[in-house]
Amino acid sequence: MFVSLRRLLYLCIMNQQSILAGKRAIYYTLGCKLNFAETSSVAARLEELGVVRARKGEQADLCFVNTCSVTEVADHKCRQAIHKLVRQHPGAFVVVTGCYAQLRPADIAAIPGVALVLGVEQKGRAVEMICNHFTENAEKTEGTEKTDDAERKACKRGAFVPSCSCGDRTRYFLKVQDGCDYFCTYCTIPFARGRSRNGTIASLVAQAEEVAAKGGKEIVITGVNIGDFGKSTGESFLDLIRTLDQVQGIERYRISSIEPNLLTDEVLQFCAASRTFMPHFHVPLQSGSDEVLRLMHRRYDTALFRQKMMRIRELMPDAFIGVDVIVGMRGETDEFFREALDFMDSVPVSQYHVFSYSERPGTKALNIPHRVTPQEKHCRSQQVLKLSDAHTRAFYNKYIGTVRPVLLEHGKKGVIGGFTDNYIRVTTSSFPLGGTMPADNVIVPMLLTGWNEAGDALTGELISGS
Ligand code: SF4
Repeated sequence: MFVSLRRLLYLCIMNQQSILAGKRAIYYTLGCKLNFAETSSVAARLEELGVVRARKGEQADLCFVNTCSVTEVADHKCRQAIHKLVRQHPGAFVVVTGCYAQLRPADIAAIPGVALVLGVEQKGRAVEMICNHFTENAEKTEGTEKTDDAERKACKRGAFVPSCSCGDRTRYFLKVQDGCDYFCTYCTIPFARGRSRNGTIASLVAQAEEVAAKGGKEIVITGVNIGDFGKSTGESFLDLIRTLDQVQGIERYRISSIEPNLLTDEVLQFCAASRTFMPHFHVPLQSGSDEVLRLMHRRYDTALFRQKMMRIRELMPDAFIGVDVIVGMRGETDEFFREALDFMDSVPVSQYHVFSYSERPGTKALNIPHRVTPQEKHCRSQQVLKLSDAHTRAFYNKYIGTVRPVLLEHGKKGVIGGFTDNYIRVTTSSFPLGGTMPADNVIVPMLLTGWNEAGDALTGELISGS
C-alpha cells in the first residue's frame, strides 16, 4: 500500500505524541540568557508533544539540565544540581547538555543516574533523542569529545540552533548568534559552544513576529558574541537590528551584550534614532588595565573603550551602561588593579558586574605566571562592587522626579514593577485606578519618586489615566 512521506511523518508525530502525552518533565538551567532561551525552546517543543511540567513534589519522568562552565563554581553547581535531581526523581530519564557537558562529558556521564550527555553538536537534536528514548528506550549515550579535543572541535562552525524563550517572563530572549571566534585567554566558551554562527535575518524576524503575535512587547537579543553576527550568512548586525526594528507589535529591544570593538558608530547612531532599541547597553570591559587586556587577548584597549562610552553618552545621554569586569586574572598585579579601578571610576558607566577570575583547564591564561590569591580576589571584587554601587546610585538619583515609560512585569503581594526604557528598576504599590493592581505586559508612564526600602530599585507612581 502506498503511504505518502507527509502521511508517514504525521503518523510518526502522532505516535510520539501519544507516547509522550502526560510525561512530566523538570527543566533546570544554569548560566547565561542563551541557556535559558535554549531550554525554553526545548520545553516548548516537548510541550507540543504532550509533555507537561512536573509540579512541586511530583515525580518527573524527564530531567533536562542545561549546564554552564564559566567558572569552577559553575561546574560545582552543575554537579550538585544533577545529583539532587537524580536523588529526587529516581528512574527519571536524566539528560544533561550545555557548556559543562561539552567540556567534561565523561565527568557527567560518570554521575549515577545520568542517561544522556549531549555535546554542542547534539544539542539541536535534544528533543528527537528524548523522543527516541521514550519510544525505543534508547541506550545510555554520552558525548564523544574530550577536553583535549575541544580546540579542534571549536574549529567547526557547526549548525545554528534557533531558540527563543517564551512566556516565562514578560521579556523574551531571542538567540540570534552562537559561538565565538575570539579565544580570549581565560575563556572556554569557544571550546564549549564552537565557532561563531547565526540565524538568517529572515528567520529571526519570523521569530520576532511570532513573539509579537503572542503579545510580547520586549525582546532581548542574545548570543555569545552578537556583534560578530553574520559569520555564517554574510549578513551584518546592523542589518539585523534595522530589520527587527520594523517588526510590528514589538515595542522594545535590548542588546544583551556586545564587545566594545564591535559596537560601531553606525550601530550607536541607529540605536539613538531607532523606534524600538532602548537606551541600554551591556559592554564587557573585563579589565581597565591595558597590560591585563593584552594578557587576556582582548581586541581593544582602554582608549577605545573610553571612546565608545563617551560616544554612547553623547548620542544617548540617558542610556544605562552595564559593564562586565573580571578581577584577579593571572598577571593582574596590585599596580595593574589600581590602574584598572581608576580607569573604571573615570568612565560614565552605570553599573559594573564583577566576576572573579577562575582557572579553566585548557586555557592559555594558565601559562601566565603571576597568580592572585583567593583572598586578594575577594578584596578586589569588593572594591569594584563598592565603586559600582556609587555609579549606580548616582545614575538612578538623576532620574528621581522624572517620568519614564515602564514595562510592567507580573506583580505579587500588592507590588508591581518593571524596568524603564533606560533600565531603571521601578516598583510601586500605589494604584490610582480604584486601587487595583494594573495588568502586566503593558508600558505605562511612571513618576520616579525615590528609593525603595531595600535600596535596590526606585519607587514609582503610575500617572493617572495611564
Ligand atoms: S569574546 Fe572572549 S570572553 Fe567573550 S565568549 Fe568570546 S572568547 Fe569568551
